[in-house]
Amino acid sequence: MSEWPSWLPLKASLVDSDIYGAPQIAEVLKLNTNENPFSPPEQVIDQIMQAIKSIAHDLNRYPDRDAIELRDSLAKYIRREVADISIDNIWAANGSNEILQQLFLAYASSSCLGFTPSYSVHPLIAKITGSNWISAQLGENFKLETNQLLSLVEKHNPSIIFITTPNNPTGGVVEFKHLAEIARSLVGKKILLVIDQAYAEFSTEKSAINLIQEFPHVAVVRTMSKAFAFAGTRIGYLVADKNVVQGLKIVRLPYHLSSLTQAAALVALKNTEIMQSKLIEIIKSRQIVKDELEQLGFKVSDSGANFLFFTGFKQSSNQLWQSLLDQQVLVRDVGYEGFLRVSIGTPDENQKFLQSMKSILG
Ligand SMILES: *Cc1c(COP(=O)(O)O)cnc(C)c1O
Repeated sequence: MSEWPSWLPLKASLVDSDIYGAPQIAEVLKLNTNENPFSPPEQVIDQIMQAIKSIAHDLNRYPDRDAIELRDSLAKYIRREVADISIDNIWAANGSNEILQQLFLAYASSSCLGFTPSYSVHPLIAKITGSNWISAQLGENFKLETNQLLSLVEKHNPSIIFITTPNNPTGGVVEFKHLAEIARSLVGKKILLVIDQAYAEFSTEKSAINLIQEFPHVAVVRTMSKAFAFAGTRIGYLVADKNVVQGLKIVRLPYHLSSLTQAAALVALKNTEIMQSKLIEIIKSRQIVKDELEQLGFKVSDSGANFLFFTGFKQSSNQLWQSLLDQQVLVRDVGYEGFLRVSIGTPDENQKFLQSMKSILG
C-alpha cells in the first residue's frame, strides 16, 4: 500500500508495509506454503467432532486461560525427546506465529538479530511490534557462521537472536553441537536465543529442546502446522525455561486460545502416531523430488524440512514461478533472486510439479 487517506492515523512505522501472505489462488496445486498435503485421517476427524460436541455445552464460558490440559499433553509429546520437560516449560498459542509475536512483545528490549534468507515473518513481526530488526546474510551455501554471529552480537548487543533450523526457505539444518556452541557463547549476555524449529520432525538432527536445561536463555518454537498436518487449527508452542514462559503470560491476550482449538489439538496429540504417519513418506518424497530436479540440471539445497530450495534455471525466479502457475502449479518465490521453493506434496502432486518443470524446460 502506498496511498493511505490523510484522515487515518496509521503509525509512521507501518506506512510502507506490505500485507503478508502468499497468493491464495483456487484450483491450483498448492506447493507454496509447506503445508502437509495429507488430510487428517477419518478416525481422528470423528474424534475431533466428538470432542467438540462434548465441550460445546460450555461455549458460553471462556476457555482455560492457561491451557493446562493442552500444555500437559504437549509436555508429554516433548518428553519423547527430552525427559525433563514439564508443563511449566511449555506455552501454547494460535500458531507459532503468535508465539513469535509474544516473544517480541515480552523480550525485544533492544534490537533483534536474524539471518537471511530465513523466515520472513520474523522481521515482519519485529516491524509490527515496533522492534528494531538487524538482518545479516547467511554464509556460503546458507551456512550460519558462529564468528559472524558473535561479532554482530558485540556490535549490536541484541536482546533476541533468531535461528531457524531446519531453515525456511533453504531447508538447511544447523548441527546440534553448533547450536550448543552458540548457546554457550551467549551465556551471561542477557540475550534470548530463539530457535524456530517449525520443521523439527522432518529432520534427523537432535532437537534444540535438548539445550534448554543447561541454557535457560534458549527458547525453542515449534508448531503443529507442519508435521501434525494441522495448520488450520493454529497451534504453535514454545519449549523453554519456566521464566521465559512466565514472560509470555504477561503479554498474551486474555483467553487467547479458544476452547475449540484446545479440544481439537488435544485429540491430535492423543493420536500423534496416526497424525504423523505420513512423515516418512514425505521425507522419502523429498529425496525423490531432489534427485529428479538434480537430474534436470538444477542445484537443490539439502533439506531437513518438507520443501526444497532450488536454483540453476535461466529465467528469473518470477518468470519460472509464473510459467509454473500457468500450468496450475503454485510454488513460492521468496524474493531471493535465482531461487524458488517448492513444498513436498503427495506423490501425484510431486509428479505433476516435475512434469511441469520438464515441459517448461523442454
Ligand atoms: C510454517 C512456519 C511457522 C509456523 O507457523 P504457524 O503459525 O505455527 O502455522 C513458523 N516458523 C517457520 C520457520 C515456518 O516455516
